[in-house]
Amino acid sequence: MSDTYAVIGNPIIHSKSPLIHNAFSKQTKKKIYYEALFAPLNGFTEAIKIFRQNNGRGMNVTTPFKFNAYEISTQLTEDAEAAQAVNTLLFDNNEIYGHNTDGIGLIRDIVTNLRFTITAKRILICGAGGAASGIILPLLKENPSTLVISNRTVQKAYKLKDQFSSFNNIIVSNNNMDIAKREFDLIINATSTSLIGKSLILPRNIFASGSLAYDLMYSNKQTPFLKFAQKEGAEYLSDGTGMLVEQAAESFFLWRGIRPKTKEIIKNIRNGS
Ligand code: NAP
Repeated sequence: MSDTYAVIGNPIIHSKSPLIHNAFSKQTKKKIYYEALFAPLNGFTEAIKIFRQNNGRGMNVTTPFKFNAYEISTQLTEDAEAAQAVNTLLFDNNEIYGHNTDGIGLIRDIVTNLRFTITAKRILICGAGGAASGIILPLLKENPSTLVISNRTVQKAYKLKDQFSSFNNIIVSNNNMDIAKREFDLIINATSTSLIGKSLILPRNIFASGSLAYDLMYSNKQTPFLKFAQKEGAEYLSDGTGMLVEQAAESFFLWRGIRPKTKEIIKNIRNGS
């Protein structure tokens, strides 16, 4: 019988993870069974218990359970500990290993796939939810010159600044007038606005020359944020498909000890296949 893995979330129906992991399994010839699991909002712990009883080996965790996954982990990596969010679980005997591969996925997409250097650049992260918390430490490890976090609910941005208080190049902005005085080389949309087709309200003239606009949302249509960025003169535009596949590749590596090739799979997901 193949080892069982799953992605758990609520909702989960639109998840691309089964498609991606089945493609990894085929490519690497590592046979796995991978399913999508829906859990009720108060049913995460129970779902994990049943999955483990049925010899489940590992899980990807998506909205809204990343903090629950952090809480049940008995061993945490530095990225997961710093983010206080877990997107990959590995079950081994009595231990639950909690990882966060979102940030690694984003960095691999920006630096390796898009060949955009982050070091010494000025970064703006819009949003302070689960995805934002997962990408901050890996971004800081690339040594940007500044990292500004801007969020509609400013208290959440301050909480993230506190979480990463040992890094002194984080600035929190509580309004668009503040951001409007600056220019950025990399602007990341980590809000869920694109999910609901809404525009993120941002000031004009904040994209520096040669800048990259990156929307964490994956979509085969241009998102409102990327449309705005293009009009504002951002030189490079990317949605989050590359990050999605790269974070999955890192999970697969943690589970199976082999890192799948991602280029073709990113292309296929982008083309809707
Ligand atoms: P989340 O925890 O629910 O956080 C949502 C964020 O969006 C919060 O900061 C929220 O601000 C902000 N927001 C929501 N509506 C807004 C509006 N109308 N105007 C301004 N800000 C608004 O969600 P998440 O898990 O961080 O996910 C965020 C995005 O990342 C989603 O699009 C998701 O699909 C994407 N994502 C992609 C990947 C990938 O692999 N590509 C991985 C993870 C997530 P408040 O705090 O004020 O509510």
